[in-house]
Amino acid sequence: MSKFEPDYVYFEPKALEYEVGDRLYRMFKEQGKPIQTTTSHNRVTGIPGDTPQQAYRNAKSTLVVGIKKTMKLETSKPSADFSLPPSTGCPGHCHYCYLQTTMGKKPYIRVYVNIDEILETAQKYIDERAPEPTVFEAACSSDPIAVEYLTGNLKRMIEFFGESELGSLRFVTKYDEVDSLLDAKHNGKTRFRFSINSRYVIKNFEPGVANFEERIEAAGKIAKAGYPLGFILAPLMIYDGWQEGYAELIERLSRVLVPEAKKNLTFELIQHRFTATAKKVILERYPKTKLDMDEEKRKYKWGKYGRGKWVYPTDDATALDMHLRALIAEYFPEARVDYFT
Ligand code: SF4
Repeated sequence: MSKFEPDYVYFEPKALEYEVGDRLYRMFKEQGKPIQTTTSHNRVTGIPGDTPQQAYRNAKSTLVVGIKKTMKLETSKPSADFSLPPSTGCPGHCHYCYLQTTMGKKPYIRVYVNIDEILETAQKYIDERAPEPTVFEAACSSDPIAVEYLTGNLKRMIEFFGESELGSLRFVTKYDEVDSLLDAKHNGKTRFRFSINSRYVIKNFEPGVANFEERIEAAGKIAKAGYPLGFILAPLMIYDGWQEGYAELIERLSRVLVPEAKKNLTFELIQHRFTATAKKVILERYPKTKLDMDEEKRKYKWGKYGRGKWVYPTDDATALDMHLRALIAEYFPEARVDYFT
């Protein structure tokens, strides 16, 4: 797929004191992009847009180059110990994306130039927990591959953890620009996960990210590069032909992965869900979406603090879970299914 090319670019002035910031500034200037400054990557103003939809689209085409100041890491249970973001936000337009509600009025994309300081922070957290191992997640609030060609941050992180005795890294992506990471010295310390789905779901609900074929091809490359590999199958959906759609996905993956990759492979299975707030935001931003958010066909699952979400009724959820587990057992008998939720 084509690379993310921002239409609007903002810099924190201090970001220019870092090699990456300086290089990006000169690159965008040469390209003739309109560049503005902002005192903080958390308070960017002036992104144009006459309607909320237009403002949202423009924000998703806006890149902010800044410095990560907060060095207090958020916890990231249950799959990792801490979140370690090299960037925040994502240029993709998946209709159901959780960032639409979690990032509120700041859907623009932020990249951080102070990767050395971010990694020093990771080391402190590792030291504090030693001799316990510490797992970091790089994709809690972003898709780090989408902006990797700009910063190279993810490769730095992968190689840092490649040399770490007690630290390890994981992240997930829906992008396919993985070539720069194929020769990274990962030493098996980074679990590279792809979020992937049936052809139907990708085609209808995931514009702006790598398509079905591109993601499968990228997974094949990463498998060959020897990374521990994982797939997040999410959001799993029930639609006309869903059984065949997911069968095609698993069968195609099994054809593209080298045998060694199949021995250390994980799957995470997540059914589609939505909240009342998310439904409202999605329908505002993607009014023509075919996303099925009919509460009549769903079951309400209460969560913490009295806030719940709409999931599939038990029979549908069980059918999804069993179908996927049966396919995985058939094509990847050595793989581990971490959970269905
Ligand atoms: Fe959201 Fe992930 Fe899609 Fe980006 S790729 S829009 S983070 S769901």
